[in-house]
Amino acid sequence: MIGVITVPTASGPNKNIKDAVDKKVRAGECLQCKKPAAKRGLCSKHHAQFHRALKGIGDQTKAAEFEAKAIAKGIVLAKGYAAEKNDYAKLAAAVS
Ligand SMILES: [Zn+2]
Repeated sequence: MIGVITVPTASGPNKNIKDAVDKKVRAGECLQCKKPAAKRGLCSKHHAQFHRALKGIGDQTKAAEFEAKAIAKGIVLAKGYAAEKNDYAKLAAAVS
């Protein structure tokens, strides 16, 4: 079974995480440090660390669980999250 991806919601205990993530995304900063975000909300160094940890798990189900937990903790963005926050993408979606 593929793990369910939990995205922080607008209310409840995850609100602080979501607010912190939104702030970092708006600032274009890595979720783990102050460097510019490159991929999945992380700078190149932290993305490499995340990717290495993810690939090191091997088992696909456990890797999906690891990724979901990392997303829920606000230490990596869900795939497509940055694009959703991009004003051009929002505008394009609104007119299409
Ligand atoms: Zn970083």
